[in-house]
Amino acid sequence: MTRDLRHFIGGRPVEGTSGRFGDIYNPATGAVTARVPLASADEVRNAVGVAAEALPAWAGTPPPKRVQFLFAFRELLHEHLDALAELLSSEHGKTVPDARGSLSRGIEVIEFACGIPQLLKGGYNEGVATGVDVYSVRQPVGVCAGITPFNFPAMVPMWMFPVAIACGNTFVLKPSEKDPSVTLRIAELASQAGLPDGVLNVVNGDKEAVDALLAHPDVAAISFVGSTAVGEYIYREGCANGKRVQALCGAKNHMVVMPDADMDQAVDAAMGAAYGSAGERCMAISVAVAVGEKTADEFVERLSPRVQALKVGPYTDQDSEMGPIVTRQSLDRITGYIEKGVAEGAELVVDGRGLSLQGYENGFFLGGCLFDRVQPGMSIYTDEIFGPVLCVVRVDDYESALKLVDDHEYGNGVAVFTRDGDAARNFASRVNIGMVGINVPIPVPVAYHSFGGWKRSLFGDHHMHGPEGVRFYTRLKTVTGRWPSGIRTGAEFHFRRSSEP
Ligand code: NAD
Repeated sequence: MTRDLRHFIGGRPVEGTSGRFGDIYNPATGAVTARVPLASADEVRNAVGVAAEALPAWAGTPPPKRVQFLFAFRELLHEHLDALAELLSSEHGKTVPDARGSLSRGIEVIEFACGIPQLLKGGYNEGVATGVDVYSVRQPVGVCAGITPFNFPAMVPMWMFPVAIACGNTFVLKPSEKDPSVTLRIAELASQAGLPDGVLNVVNGDKEAVDALLAHPDVAAISFVGSTAVGEYIYREGCANGKRVQALCGAKNHMVVMPDADMDQAVDAAMGAAYGSAGERCMAISVAVAVGEKTADEFVERLSPRVQALKVGPYTDQDSEMGPIVTRQSLDRITGYIEKGVAEGAELVVDGRGLSLQGYENGFFLGGCLFDRVQPGMSIYTDEIFGPVLCVVRVDDYESALKLVDDHEYGNGVAVFTRDGDAARNFASRVNIGMVGINVPIPVPVAYHSFGGWKRSLFGDHHMHGPEGVRFYTRLKTVTGRWPSGIRTGAEFHFRRSSEP
């Protein structure tokens, strides 16, 4: 018997009424474990209405009081960390330590948001003219919506709503329909921590739910994380409907391996960053750019036995280094790319296809794959594969490596491996990418910096969490005041210069 999930609206679970459901799988066994209700436009409108009703009281709650809830919420999440990680892994497929790590990174955003009284501090100028003072404050934007991807069903929502609600907004979250159980559980815990009803709502659904959020006049801002095609659509539609939108999208992250790199460090980094979470991370390394033939030969020679030896298995096996792919459909898409890569002439050094694990024959498993001698025109180079497939591109020199990275349409993350500080500095300064690692393969910024890419990896002006998150979820108001005891100017018909008394 599969269980039916519910929405979480107004502080309580709510049954879906649309009659439409999506299947949720255990990717390790291939079995359907639950059904998720896919909301109708009416159900979404109801959730937005609940969030709009909760807005005035929450926006009017003093920030130090809002923060009391965040402290309690953080404690509860820590208390439930293991159970949340298990739940996440059971629907996503990633290993439990990986799930736990992603939850912890989400909790760090809550810790950042606990500092909101300080972060909301405005600016004040006394005496800009005689008896005239000016101050600027940041106020909440209103009802905010979040639309999130399957690959981080806990962390990515927590990039958004803790900052949004700390700033005084209310929130409607539409998680991925592939693995929403952990997201729903987190919303329940928020409520248990004392968050007033209606401040955080979770509505499950697909395009119909997203379109209803895009069309709703009471939704002031939309945060999206997911693929580029969907993100670009949401950015365009959201902006056309007068909303503030940030859409963080797809990626093809390169790691440049310089001839002087510490090869042990570079190979370890490539293993974790290309194959961790089965490559289903927007910051996964999917291209290694080896500078010089000698570097490339050594890199591939050292890497390939490690890829062959990867321990692929279910999340329930503590020895697993990499779990299955999220769905059969994603698995088929990834193997389709492997076939294309072979047809296009790349050298498939390690072929992870056809992996069958005893007792898990119907699971969506794929072993690690490694392509060498990949050319920039090939589809395995141009497209985001979002699976455990690493492409090695060989270039002659540093400038060619830099140009290759810059010419790619995506600009999420990049890493350079070198012992030369000067080269690293030159790279970090010149490269056309939003997040740069120097001997760090997955340079996901800590919570008090902001996360976001460049080029077609982000549509909008603001990155997520950190100071940019606070700016996104607030709008600036500037107040100019003159008091009766100040200078009397009489009626003035000219536009005042600042230098006048
Ligand atoms: P996706 O684009 O398929 O789905 C993301 C969200 O959009 C989901 O909630 C989904 O229900 C909704 N959606 C899907 N199709 C839609 C449509 N046609 N109209 C409206 N809404 C729609 O992405 P995914 O497969 O869940 O996640 C993987 C993608 O997310 C990858 O491209 C990855 O790079 C990206 N990602 C990016 C970042 C980042 O910060 N840049 C982080 C994580 C994941």
